[in-house]
Amino acid sequence: MRVDFPKPNIFSSKCLGFAKCRWNGDIIPDKFIAELKPYVNYVTTCPEFEIGLGIPRDPIRIVFQDELYRLMQLNTERDITKKMNDFVSGYVTSIKDIDGFILKDRSPSCGLKDVKVYSSLKPSSSIKRTSGFFAAGVLKSFPNIAVETEARLTNFMIRENFLTKVFTYAKFRKIKNNPLMKNLVQFHAENKFLLMAYCKKYLKVLGNIVANRDKKSLKEVFVEYEVNLLKAMEKAPKFTATINVLLHALGYFSKKLTSDEKRFFLNTLEEYRREQIPLSVPVNLVRSYIIRFDESYLKQQTFFEPYPKELIEAKDSGKKRDYR
Ligand code: SF4
Repeated sequence: MRVDFPKPNIFSSKCLGFAKCRWNGDIIPDKFIAELKPYVNYVTTCPEFEIGLGIPRDPIRIVFQDELYRLMQLNTERDITKKMNDFVSGYVTSIKDIDGFILKDRSPSCGLKDVKVYSSLKPSSSIKRTSGFFAAGVLKSFPNIAVETEARLTNFMIRENFLTKVFTYAKFRKIKNNPLMKNLVQFHAENKFLLMAYCKKYLKVLGNIVANRDKKSLKEVFVEYEVNLLKAMEKAPKFTATINVLLHALGYFSKKLTSDEKRFFLNTLEEYRREQIPLSVPVNLVRSYIIRFDESYLKQQTFFEPYPKELIEAKDSGKKRDYR
């Protein structure tokens, strides 16, 4: 079942192992980002450096005043909101063919949704949380693309979903660059189980787009498919949907496996449902059946290897996080 994967284009905050560009001149090596390097093309930037704040620099914070979020330097009290907004809008419109983003957790520029907001520059507790200025621009311009922080990606469930999304989208972009109907039909066929796990409703919508009963142009079909593919994969699959897909796959082997083997498989599914093991464990069991019984239809399903298996790591940081 060796699969050739196109290299996704991934944006990463530059301080995550690429340059000593933190406010204090630090770099933050990240194990997952480093491990991904041979499999992806990284695009990086440091928004704070790019707007000329220098390294090292006076730290910044988000201040909420007069119903507005402002980005300010703590000691100089300089308001850099406009400078950052101008940089962000120029940068995000210049990014092409991107498959996912990994942003630095909690940074007032790159942080995703959990950045502290203060009522002033005086020493005080935060009053709420929001996204950093750069992250907000990314979320607005790429609403359905995979966007995560390096901290959330320490959770294997989040990592699995992130990798599945970026490698699936990279594959779609590859066929989009040389748009042929037969390639789209094949892409859809190979992703049926995967889409069934993500969203049955969108599996049907995408199937109708590929059927093209209204005889739309190839360009229209690809545009419509792309929009709906991203929507289909917006949220991680629910456990119940993933389990149903695995049970559906088990159906292909029900007459070939012994009752002990079936019981073992169902116990493994239960451990997955209880979040004791990652999805890759029951998936690998099915993969072994596919090879053993040479099941050609399932062999082509991306659900069983949505990204290079070398990237599977069945453990996380131990921190419990919401992974949807
Ligand atoms: S979090 Fe973003 S702005 Fe801050 S140092 Fe890293 S790349 Fe630069």
